[in-house]
Amino acid sequence: MKSNGFRLPTYMCLAWITVLASCGKPTPDTSTSSDAETRDSVSQVITEVLTAEQQAKLTPDDVIRLLQEGNIRFTKNDLTARNHNEQVRKASEGQYPKAIILSCVDSRVPVEDVFDRGIGDVFVARVAGNFVNEDILGSMEYACKVAGAKLIVVMGHEHCGAVKAAIDHVEMGNITAMLSKIEPAVRQAAGDKTGKLSSKDPELVHAVCEANIDNTIQTIRSQSVILKEMEDAGAIRIVGGIYDMDDGSVQFLHPEELPGGMNQ
Ligand SMILES: [Zn+2]
Repeated sequence: MKSNGFRLPTYMCLAWITVLASCGKPTPDTSTSSDAETRDSVSQVITEVLTAEQQAKLTPDDVIRLLQEGNIRFTKNDLTARNHNEQVRKASEGQYPKAIILSCVDSRVPVEDVFDRGIGDVFVARVAGNFVNEDILGSMEYACKVAGAKLIVVMGHEHCGAVKAAIDHVEMGNITAMLSKIEPAVRQAAGDKTGKLSSKDPELVHAVCEANIDNTIQTIRSQSVILKEMEDAGAIRIVGGIYDMDDGSVQFLHPEELPGGMNQ
């Protein structure tokens, strides 16, 4: 297994060098942009946070594109420089995030960095195996219906320990009940396979990961009237993606349904 090779310390150094280099220079004007994260060059340091007006102008497809673009920057080790102190202060006045992303807890999946997002930009819900329960559905309803987020991303990842443990039927403390949420995806992906299932089968692991994401999306639609109605009305979109540990890219599922009809 190859680990994520992106060096955040290098980025942090770049951020500080850029902060120092921009001392005394005017702050980049992002006020006319629909996205506070928009930048013209790497020399800019983002100090703003998303406003209610900017959030209101975004469509769900706009948000998908912004996340795709941010992910490309992540894969190129070209994360946006941000002045976190400034952003913290400005975000204390309110939050108007673009999206809510449901991820696994895996320490190798740094969600905000994966999409090059900053403070006040996305909600992140995390649970091993990225499934939903009542609490996470409530969090998604809050993010979209109350706080105005336009997109729900259910993001699984390659080499997921929770998926592998579900395949291997691990039983241990509260982990047993947790893995039962992934079990339907194991049964679906296994199909008519006979014999003992094993997490040493990489194709099976990938298939369970994908089935688990699709199941989670179907559960969101079937167990949240609020989110289903918002999706049907075009106010939000609900999409799935898989984070690739080897190159840092996120491959969205069902790319034919994406703006432009493809992954980047
Ligand atoms: Zn995982």
